[in-house]
Amino acid sequence: MKAEILGVNVDCLTMNDAVAKVAEIILNKKPSLVATANAEMLMLANSDIELKKILNSAAMVTPDGAGTVWAARHLGYDMPERVAGVDLVTNLFSKGYKFYFFGAAPGVAEIAAENSQKKYNAKIAGTRNGFFSVEDEPKIISDINNSGAEILLVGLGVPKQEKWIFNNLSKLNVPVSIGVGGTFDVLAGKVKRAPRWMQRAKLEWLFRALLQPSRAGRLVALPKFVYNVVKSK
Ligand code: UDP
Repeated sequence: MKAEILGVNVDCLTMNDAVAKVAEIILNKKPSLVATANAEMLMLANSDIELKKILNSAAMVTPDGAGTVWAARHLGYDMPERVAGVDLVTNLFSKGYKFYFFGAAPGVAEIAAENSQKKYNAKIAGTRNGFFSVEDEPKIISDINNSGAEILLVGLGVPKQEKWIFNNLSKLNVPVSIGVGGTFDVLAGKVKRAPRWMQRAKLEWLFRALLQPSRAGRLVALPKFVYNVVKSK
C-alpha cells in the first residue's frame, strides 16, 4: 500500500518489508531507484515537480523520519514504522550484497567503506567522491558498472542524488540505486547520529539541527510541512 503525502506516494512498510523489497528488485535485475523520504524531501517535491515525478516513478519510497510517519498516519494510512536511510543501508549490509559508495567529500566514502566493512561486514565493490563535472560522469558510470556492485548508494544530497540516479538509470547496470543523503558522513564518523533515546522520542531532527547549525534553517520547513499536510486532508 502507498500513502499519498503532498502528492508523493510513500510505501507503507516495515524495515523487514523494505529489505525484502530490495532483494526482489535485485532478483528482477531491472535497474531501479529507491528513495528514502523525510519531511524535507516531501516539502521539496511539493515545489520541485521534476523531483515529485521521479519519486513517483521509484521502485520504492520509504518513510524516512518521524515527520513522514506522522503525516501518513494523520492522513489515515496504516504506516507501520520509520524506515530511515542509514538504518536501511546497515540492514542491507548484513545480507551480503556488494555495494558501491558514490558521494560525499573526497576521502569520506573510503573511510565510510572501511568502517562499514569492520563494523557490519559490508562488501564494498568501489567508492567515488561526490564532487565531479559532467565530463567525469562516463568514467564514474563505467567504474560503477565494472565494479560488480548490486547496490549503488548515492550520497549527493537531495534532490541532486535522485535526479542523478533517474537520469542515469538506463546507463547503470546495477539493480538497485539508493539516494542516501549524508549517510557516508555518518558511516565515516564525521556526523553523529542522535542518541537512541532521542531517536525513540522522534527528536533526531532536533539533534541534527543542533549539531550542524548550518542545517537549522531547514527546520522552518517542518512547521510548513505539518501545515500543508493538515490542510491537504
Ligand atoms: N555532496 C556531494 N556532492 C555534491 C553536494 C553534496 O557528494 O555536489 C554530499 C555532501 O558531501 C554530503 C551529502 O552530499 O555528504 C549531503 O548530505 P546532507 O546530510 O545534506 O543530505 P540531505 O539532507 O540532502 O539528505
